[in-house]
Amino acid sequence: MSIRLAKTAGFCFGVNRAVQMVCDLLDAGERVCTLGPIIHNDQMVAELAARGVRVVDRPEQAAEGEVLVIRSHGVPAAVYREARERGIRLADATCPFVAKIHTIVREASAAGRTVLIAGDEAHGEVIGIRGHCDGASYVFSDEADLQNLLKTHPEWRETPLTAVSQTTLHAKTWDACQKILKRVCTNAVIFDTICNATASRQAEAAELAADSDTMIVVGGRQSSNTAKLYRVCAAHCGNTVFVETAAELNAEAFSRSRRVGVVAGASTPAGIIKEVIDTMTEILQPETEQGTEEKETVQKSFEEMTDEEALEASLSSLNTDQKVVGTVLAVSPTEIQVDIGRGVAGYVTASEYSSDPAVDLTKEVQIGDTLNLIILRTNDQEGIAMLSKRRYDAIAGWNDIVAAKDSEEILTGTVTEIIKGGLVAMVKGIRVFVPASQATASRGEPLEPLKGQDVRLRIIEIGRGRRAVGSIRSVLREERKAAEEKFWETAGVGDTYTGVVKSMTSYGAFVDLGGVDGMIHISELSWQRIKHPSEVVSIGDTVEVYIKGLDPEKKKISLGYKKPEDNPWTILTTKYAVGDVVPVKIVSMTDYGAFARILPGVDGLIHISQIANKHVTKPQDELSIGQELDAKIINIDTEKKRVSLSVRALLPEEDEVAYSTETAAPAEETPAVEEAPVAEESVVEEAAPAVEEAPAVEEAPAAEEAPAAEETAE
Ligand code: SF4
Repeated sequence: MSIRLAKTAGFCFGVNRAVQMVCDLLDAGERVCTLGPIIHNDQMVAELAARGVRVVDRPEQAAEGEVLVIRSHGVPAAVYREARERGIRLADATCPFVAKIHTIVREASAAGRTVLIAGDEAHGEVIGIRGHCDGASYVFSDEADLQNLLKTHPEWRETPLTAVSQTTLHAKTWDACQKILKRVCTNAVIFDTICNATASRQAEAAELAADSDTMIVVGGRQSSNTAKLYRVCAAHCGNTVFVETAAELNAEAFSRSRRVGVVAGASTPAGIIKEVIDTMTEILQPETEQGTEEKETVQKSFEEMTDEEALEASLSSLNTDQKVVGTVLAVSPTEIQVDIGRGVAGYVTASEYSSDPAVDLTKEVQIGDTLNLIILRTNDQEGIAMLSKRRYDAIAGWNDIVAAKDSEEILTGTVTEIIKGGLVAMVKGIRVFVPASQATASRGEPLEPLKGQDVRLRIIEIGRGRRAVGSIRSVLREERKAAEEKFWETAGVGDTYTGVVKSMTSYGAFVDLGGVDGMIHISELSWQRIKHPSEVVSIGDTVEVYIKGLDPEKKKISLGYKKPEDNPWTILTTKYAVGDVVPVKIVSMTDYGAFARILPGVDGLIHISQIANKHVTKPQDELSIGQELDAKIINIDTEKKRVSLSVRALLPEEDEVAYSTETAAPAEETPAVEEAPVAEESVVEEAAPAVEEAPAVEEAPAAEEAPAAEETAE
């Protein structure tokens, strides 16, 4: 047979604190009375009574010179007022977890909110909580009770509500009630105020009971949390026995069980639990050889549990700057309440949680989350510890930064400031200075665009006073080198890339493809003639390009930019055919004819013989630059990309006067204009402005020497 004692059996922090407060007063020679029994345990109350502690029902019953102790589950605000008015000395043992609820409902009431309290209306704690509400407050015991209240108060669907629970309420009941409130009431702010001491006792009791043949529940019959423990155990173990003291133990109840579990309420003194365990072990010892061993086991865990001195010692041994792990018990937009496992109420304010002044803690953490924290200060008197996550993070962050310097690990940070000589990036909560020379891939690049950006950096120096210096450049260079190697391994002619224009010259634009730079020659930027790349792109533009040529040895990449579908010649041949009449505009003239613009980028030639139905000595006699007129397409040479136009073809035949074909050579016989060398043939070379080597058609002297009836479109 084995006897297993729940680890959390016995006094909770709040009860222990209250009893200790009374004992301390007695030790200090004070005369003490308590407002109601200090705890729900007759044996402990009797023990204190033997030392002269009186129990009173009302403040006025406190005798002159007595200290009136307020017990752990608190009292209404009116009691404090009355004590003040009567000059009664108070010792307030209200558990900090309960006092926190008082604050919540007081503030809610002051804000005009209706307060809903889940719990036992007649319980002192609930009476105390209601006594801190200045406005409307209602109590419900469970889901059914809440549903009834909601039926009689349909206005609560819209009314601002604040809901709290008695600290000892059954966790499942509170969960169910919260679900209903969240579903029905759009304006309810719900606080999880069940004490972790209660919740963990209940959870542990359920687990132990499910694995035991018999459960012994030890505690006062008036103790509500012990009664709840009994119900929890009974739900999981058919043979659950309630005893107040060892004297009530009946050997028959457990002697034939193989596994006996023992739990005790939060107000059960350690001495009573020890007595129960000792008695059970003595009953069993003669019957089994395992008795001694089992007793040792039990005693060992018991000692762990009942070390009240250790509890007190652990409370006072919490040191400033000590690291602790806290489990979130409750959260409001501005404060988190955590259990740090020593019976101490821990609090983390918003400013100690985050450096963001607008942080909403309810969006950051959930009940049950664990947080790494550092103790800022403790108040042993109140059993409260003020904690900081920010400082924990900063210390942990600094350790990471120092380690990253040695390991050369790449860290991520956010640029928060541009300062003289460089920038500041926040990395793991630590300010890291990045000199301007280390902030960008190349020197001289502006730093302002980096503000607010996430950057990757290496720590290159750790100085005194937690000074860290970082380098973004080192990471950028490394990443660029890796990207470059990958590019040359994988890139092929025709591959498309998205790049950023990073610089320009008169003959082209250089594009960063993410690790390597390529050049778009000026002739590749547009189908029309342009004088400078800036007519098409700007530095910083994101552009879609494709690879026209690669020179792995010289590491040169020529890029294509203009799209085939934008080719004016393609547009012309798609849109028009020989015989079509098109509106044109005269753009230039030569001795042998006039050039007329059909589309942007496509000029056709109206040969001098096609200008009129009479002899024309020079084009200027009939036409002028800028003149708009209709012309007929009489020939399209797709190979040479030349278009011939005729105005004469549109004139009525009867208007045709004597026209000497001898005066003008027929267009077909005229040698074609020498085609301009194509700029795209130029390889991407910074020092080779191919456009200058590739004069455009209008500039070609060949036209003078060889007048043509057709002309290039480009
Ligand atoms: S059960 Fe929790 S709230 Fe109640 S007295 Fe104990 S520690 Fe405080």
